[in-house]
Amino acid sequence: MQTNTTIEQTILDQQRTFFLTDQTKTYAFRVQQLKTLRKAILTFQKEILEALMLDLHKGEFEAYTTEVGFNLRSIRDTLKKLKQWMKPKKVKGELFLPFTSSRIMLEPKGQVFIIGPFNYPFQLVIEPLIGAMAAGNTVILKPSEFTPHVSRIIKKMIEAFFPSYYLAVVEGDASVTQALLALRFDHIFFTGSTRVGQIVYEAASKHLTPVTLELGGKSPTIIDETANLKVAAERIAFAKFTNAGQTCIAPDYVYVHASVKDAFLNAFNTVIQKRYADPKTFGHIVSDRHVERLKKFVGTKEVTVDKKYFPPTIIDNASWQDPVMQEEIFGPILPILTFESLEDVIATLKTKEKPLALYFFSENKTAQKRVWQALSFGNGAINDALMQVASSHLPFGGVGQSGFGAYHGYASFVTFSHQKSFIHKSTKVDIPVAYPPYSKAQLNIIKQLIK
Ligand code: NAD
Repeated sequence: MQTNTTIEQTILDQQRTFFLTDQTKTYAFRVQQLKTLRKAILTFQKEILEALMLDLHKGEFEAYTTEVGFNLRSIRDTLKKLKQWMKPKKVKGELFLPFTSSRIMLEPKGQVFIIGPFNYPFQLVIEPLIGAMAAGNTVILKPSEFTPHVSRIIKKMIEAFFPSYYLAVVEGDASVTQALLALRFDHIFFTGSTRVGQIVYEAASKHLTPVTLELGGKSPTIIDETANLKVAAERIAFAKFTNAGQTCIAPDYVYVHASVKDAFLNAFNTVIQKRYADPKTFGHIVSDRHVERLKKFVGTKEVTVDKKYFPPTIIDNASWQDPVMQEEIFGPILPILTFESLEDVIATLKTKEKPLALYFFSENKTAQKRVWQALSFGNGAINDALMQVASSHLPFGGVGQSGFGAYHGYASFVTFSHQKSFIHKSTKVDIPVAYPPYSKAQLNIIKQLIK
């Protein structure tokens, strides 16, 4: 019997053989395959939405907008732009390269490995897949084992529409991922925790495989004394409680000016009661183990947890010493810290790891500019939270411990391509200024050109 590793090696070998036929490089092939992917998603749409309900208790609106619909829009936009993206780009010439044109051509990297997390188990596997297909690669996908229904439906869907020598899905846990990581890919795209990101990066280094690491971290939300608190409460609650807080760019904690803390909490509690208090329409924590992890963050506070339902929970008067402030929360718990001076907040955040996202609620333009320029973070928003992810024109990715590389829209196409640079020179004229033996006059010409 073949071991799993050899089965995976066989799939990869077949993908390489197929890739080397150059079929994936044509515009016609890529367009056809993206259209097939759209058809596959539409065909399995109902089952995908059901699987998201079973694994994470996602309601249809949320499941459609943040997962299935998100990907369908991305396919539509990619199809519109692909021809333009694939065109080799002419760039400016150089004085010392006469009769020469310079171009950049984005070519597919080859065999791509995409590893997905549990929180948006469909979208976060399919979104990079769209970029990898658009760029002309073959792909092996490994969805999260924590969302088994979604993982199964992704496999069923891909196998129903694509041959495994082009796209394949391998299901399983960390050991399966590690077996795949031992193989030689041309690009690895990982979404998940910083801890596992380190394992992926180390494994990739053995083959010098380039990686994209889409990781997490503690994303701050700052509210100053000028903020529109009603709007801030709505937008922060939406960003925090969508998917029960299991969103990589959810506000992890709130840093609010002491003078408006009570007013903000009043507004925030009103929003919770109005929109997020019904367990029937609230997302579930992915597993019992993850629920236990969250319980440790709330200390002695009474929280009524019902199996995998964990209610919206505020931890007032939090401090950096609390357990909840030691790691990414990834659940519907919102610690509240207060400040008197924005400069103190900036100074404190500069000592922390660079977060994946940062949000600032303020009506003060000078303060907005100050926060924007002083702090480093992957992506963010002023007077909003989460919605920056919805723009396909903005590259999405982290910085420092929250990851590196980016995707979405054109950024996806670039991530899964190699930028091949080349010059095309005429043979009609051959100026011998660079050829030896060198005279003083030749050196003077070069010096004049470089000056
Ligand atoms: P995770 O790191 O536990 O798992 C992600 C994937 O890695 C899974 O497919 C899993 O099977 C695999 N894996 C787990 N342990 C492994 C090991 N030891 N060796 C090899 N592979 C292993 O992440 P998760 O819990 O599924 O997702 C939550 C994390 O992902 C959070 O930190 C969150 O912020 C982050 N995240 C980031 C983004 C982003 O776009 N930046 C998006 C979603 C989630």
